[in-house]
Amino acid sequence: MIETLRTAMLLRHLCANVRRDPVILAAEQDRLLRHTVEHAWRHVPFYRRYWLDAGFDPKKFGGLADLERIPIVSRATLDPAARAGELLATGVDREQCTWLDTTGTGGMPLRIYKQRREERVRRAVGLRIWLEHGFSWRDATVDFQRDAGPSHPLQRFGIAPKEFILCDVPAEQRLSRFLAMKPAVVVGTATALRRIARDVQRAGVAVRRPRVVFCAGEYADTFTRRLVKSVFGTEPVGVYGQSEVGYIGWQCEQRGAFHLNADTHLVEVRRDGRAARPGELGRLIVTDLYARTMPFLRYDAGDLAIAGGETCSCGRTLPVVQSMEGRVSGVLVAADGRPVTACAVVEALCEHILLEDVQVVQHATGEIELVVVETAATQDNIAAIVAALEQLLGRSAVVSTKPQWASPRDWKTRSVVSHFFTARDSGDR
Ligand SMILES: [Zn+2]
Repeated sequence: MIETLRTAMLLRHLCANVRRDPVILAAEQDRLLRHTVEHAWRHVPFYRRYWLDAGFDPKKFGGLADLERIPIVSRATLDPAARAGELLATGVDREQCTWLDTTGTGGMPLRIYKQRREERVRRAVGLRIWLEHGFSWRDATVDFQRDAGPSHPLQRFGIAPKEFILCDVPAEQRLSRFLAMKPAVVVGTATALRRIARDVQRAGVAVRRPRVVFCAGEYADTFTRRLVKSVFGTEPVGVYGQSEVGYIGWQCEQRGAFHLNADTHLVEVRRDGRAARPGELGRLIVTDLYARTMPFLRYDAGDLAIAGGETCSCGRTLPVVQSMEGRVSGVLVAADGRPVTACAVVEALCEHILLEDVQVVQHATGEIELVVVETAATQDNIAAIVAALEQLLGRSAVVSTKPQWASPRDWKTRSVVSHFFTARDSGDR
């Protein structure tokens, strides 16, 4: 009960921050950042060692204006430290922590430990996004997830009922459970949303229009957006997060730029060793302002974004990035050397073929393999797919077909795979 009250108080504060004067928000960020740095320096062996080696002296740290002096860390640096237990704050009892494992797309799976306060922040940050989209406590939610998430004690009393639908549920059960919930809120990756939308289409059933459909964990391409809109009557809202640090950004009702949870996470878009200018592609660097059990400061998870301008026309003052552009490991290199993000490739393909039926793989510059599942529809469309890829990448793709795809066991579709793109090429750090 006390925990619920604390979450409610934090949530109230975070909701007010959505339209807070930027000067006041900056003061809050500054205070939280100083605490975070001091805590990491005093209590987390990894940061003490890493910062000493890098010549960063936290005693001379000047707060928010000094953010760029903190050395950036990547998974390659963090993984061995995490395995050695150096990333946990001293004195933390793992038995008393909650944890979740990252999926491992950024390297080996990493176990993220959290304590009660961090769970509270994570919950409040998520709830704020829901509330900004009109969520009411009576709303039922269907959440398409890899693993079932935690349930809240209040759900037993019919408050915010929630059903997790996991990826191994057979299609007919998936649809019947979805329909039985009559969800006002639907959460899923683009893959999950496409599947349930097509289930509904195939069954020819009427569904109640949800209040909001959130697309989280995958880029929402034009085809998926249109399909969801036509089946559910509302266009999906993009939400971006990382397993390591939780929700970072979300679209408002404009469904354009992503508002950042700047009061809980400092988010930078970096390119060529400087802040990216509005409209420029760069690497996303995140500092979690509340993580204490396992802090993440200036963390580069290997994701890309396009830097945004100052504000959004909706009136919310939380800063924005223009778009989330997927993983560095999905970036292809065009014939002229340009990096092309996985999102751009998906966008070029999505109107011609089901994204589940295609994979574009780059082995080296000029060596792009297009693998499609052999169906009547894909065979008819191969010329159009190749033309779309050539327009984007400027070189003919090698086409190969496979009779059958290993059906994805996850709610994610990996349509673009790059085997050689490196951090060096992305205009990084
Ligand atoms: Zn907005």
